[in-house]
Amino acid sequence: MIVDVHTHTPRLRRATVGAAPAAEAGRAAMRPDRPDPANVTWDEYIATMAYVDRACVFNIAAPPAGDPGDAGGPAAGAVSFGPTREVNNQTAALVRAYPDKLIGFMSVHPRDPQVLEEMEWAARDLGLRGIKLGPNYQNFDPLGEAACRLYTRAQEMGLPILFHQGTSPVRFADLDYAHPRHIDRLATRFPELRIVLAHLAHPWQADCIAVIRKHPHVWADISALHYRPWSYYTSLRLATEWSVLHKLLFGSDFPVATPQETAEAMPHINDILEGTKLPPVPIDELHKVLERDTLGILGLA
Ligand SMILES: [Zn+2]
Repeated sequence: MIVDVHTHTPRLRRATVGAAPAAEAGRAAMRPDRPDPANVTWDEYIATMAYVDRACVFNIAAPPAGDPGDAGGPAAGAVSFGPTREVNNQTAALVRAYPDKLIGFMSVHPRDPQVLEEMEWAARDLGLRGIKLGPNYQNFDPLGEAACRLYTRAQEMGLPILFHQGTSPVRFADLDYAHPRHIDRLATRFPELRIVLAHLAHPWQADCIAVIRKHPHVWADISALHYRPWSYYTSLRLATEWSVLHKLLFGSDFPVATPQETAEAMPHINDILEGTKLPPVPIDELHKVLERDTLGILGLA
């Protein structure tokens, strides 16, 4: 079974004439090789997910209204960002339409005074089964008191957390909040919490590997890596040398990339080595990432 652990809830249920394109002028692009996708519809989303058997899908919750850390939200078109109720309702509606394919994750904000109630509500009433957090986009300290309250409850409820990790072109998003070194202490304090670190925390892949290597329930996804060939190769080569290929999960970060292009890039990872003596990434081992029992690993089977 192929599971895409990292996809974003489309902004639009259906195409609307004159809908504003997601990519506004002057904004940094997510990918170096093509413009960010314009607004994606449910139909486009589900057609793209035909490549996988199951997909985890989520939005990102903005800081609560009036919060001093509310800097206006990411200007990144591919990342859906909004009030907690709104983003979770959007995700739940999509999952209700495709229940055999999709597993919805909620997003919540640690400084929301109602965060624990929101988690209960999203799990019980909306059927959302994990949590997506972006400490940089959401502007919260990943080891702060408020965040730890959230993790305590997530661990009790058996909700896995997928963290955005690594850099972002969004100017206001605090880089340090998305550094994987913080996850080491987090995982030590919450040893039963299932955690996925997005993008192998690019460009801090080595730090990410140090963390997933030592914590049995901390994993990393390979989404949004393959279109930077050197970065992709060195990430997976480091993962090979540190014996953590088995800790990697398949993900695309759709709409930034598709699961099909992510899978089809795998056999080409060593193409850039031609004419060099650099060691290859073992393709057979890498391919096992595609068939990983992601749902079992995250308690979602
Ligand atoms: Zn993402």
